[in-house]
Amino acid sequence: MTAMESMEYSRNAFDFIDDQQLNSKLREPAPEAGEVRRIIAKSMDKQPLDLDETAVLLRVQDPDLLQEIFAGAKELKRQVYGNRIVLFAPLYIGSECVNDCQYCAFRRGNPEAVRRTLASEDIAAQVKSLEDKGHKRLILVFGEHPRYDAEFIAESVREVYKVKSGHGEIRRVNINAAPLNTEGFRKVKEAGIGTYQIFQETYHHPTYAEMHPQGTRKSDYLYRLDGLNRAMEAGCDDVGIGALFGLYDWRFEVLGLVAHALNLQNNYGGGPHTISFPRLRPASGVKLEEHWRVSDEEFLRLIAILRLAVPYTGLICTARETPEMRRRAMEFGVSQIDAGSRIELGGYTESGDAQIMEREQFSLGDIRGLDTVIRELLEDGYVPSFCTACYRLGRTGEHFMEFAIPGFIKRYCDPNALTTLTEYLVDYASAETRRAGEKVLADQLAEMEESEQKKQLRERLRQIQESDRRDLYF
Ligand code: SF4
Repeated sequence: MTAMESMEYSRNAFDFIDDQQLNSKLREPAPEAGEVRRIIAKSMDKQPLDLDETAVLLRVQDPDLLQEIFAGAKELKRQVYGNRIVLFAPLYIGSECVNDCQYCAFRRGNPEAVRRTLASEDIAAQVKSLEDKGHKRLILVFGEHPRYDAEFIAESVREVYKVKSGHGEIRRVNINAAPLNTEGFRKVKEAGIGTYQIFQETYHHPTYAEMHPQGTRKSDYLYRLDGLNRAMEAGCDDVGIGALFGLYDWRFEVLGLVAHALNLQNNYGGGPHTISFPRLRPASGVKLEEHWRVSDEEFLRLIAILRLAVPYTGLICTARETPEMRRRAMEFGVSQIDAGSRIELGGYTESGDAQIMEREQFSLGDIRGLDTVIRELLEDGYVPSFCTACYRLGRTGEHFMEFAIPGFIKRYCDPNALTTLTEYLVDYASAETRRAGEKVLADQLAEMEESEQKKQLRERLRQIQESDRRDLYF
């Protein structure tokens, strides 16, 4: 068993979270309407907000001004992301862990947790099951344990990319795992990962210490906060941040996420590729106070405010949330969701309709199948997308930002979403979903201006519908 890596820090390692300063920004009086409108206008101009501006939006109580925040977020999302929703699925690889995080079923102190690590043939079986349903984008999830070192994570990534099933293949593998050292990040980058996600869980220092007992590896706040700096320095330029909502004041955590995004932007020229905001869910062997629980209305506010604060960062709402909640969340800024998710180890081939809590890190609010989720998206007028073009054409990190900022990205995202949707409709969809998809395809093409690119797109869609050509992107 390899020992845990020694802890090293990036050249920019610095604890930029000042609890007192952030809390004092939240204690200032409710803002004037004029100031709120000035800040929404800045977002509509697609400029990221600073901490003070974000704090102003977080202090709004006036119902009419809240409606203006929601309306602004909805419009900004439409302008930057159109009606696309990017889809992925989680694949849990191992539930061994040396940490004792108080909110997690996989914590070492939970005797009920089922400990398991997928072997390469198990990974292949899970991936084949996901490919046969139509998935193209996965996120691999690992506990923190000597077994799950950089080499193991890299090997798991290579294992996933090897699996082909008919037209099925995984084209982008993201990672949610513990922070590594720079050399470790370099190794997983070489294996071809997309985004590396590390959630700070909570940015509030006392809460962090309470949730991550002293002596556990995860108790080192700065080593974790600095994790994605090391990733950036190792060339992993698509990174994802997140906080677990319900551990401390949600408004403070939103400021923490924005501070983290600004820190990455200032140090590496590119903010996070994605932000996640999971809410606490029931989990095996976990009993936590309800004091900081986030209501549905507050959850929608935090999404809308994040949308306005970081116009170009993807916002991920996972299947922790119920179908109804996800539907509302997509209105106000969410651009990526997982679908057809099972998070039990081996869950894609072994789980029935009911969730098995002892084998999950937390319970899910939405375990509908991929086809059902896609049909609902289509009926709601969204275009489900499995696009992976930017990552494979090197439009990542600050290079992605170069493309994204002028809005050119729309020229790629829309047509690529339609080709990946067409692949799904031809190869995997139920008859009902195919009907809903063909209507959305026709509507999207009708709305698209006539151009050389549209001609190319029509030809590609025809090739997917009438031949074995697949994986066509701009
Ligand atoms: S949250 Fe992650 S690090 Fe903490 S106990 Fe769970 S699996 Fe381990």
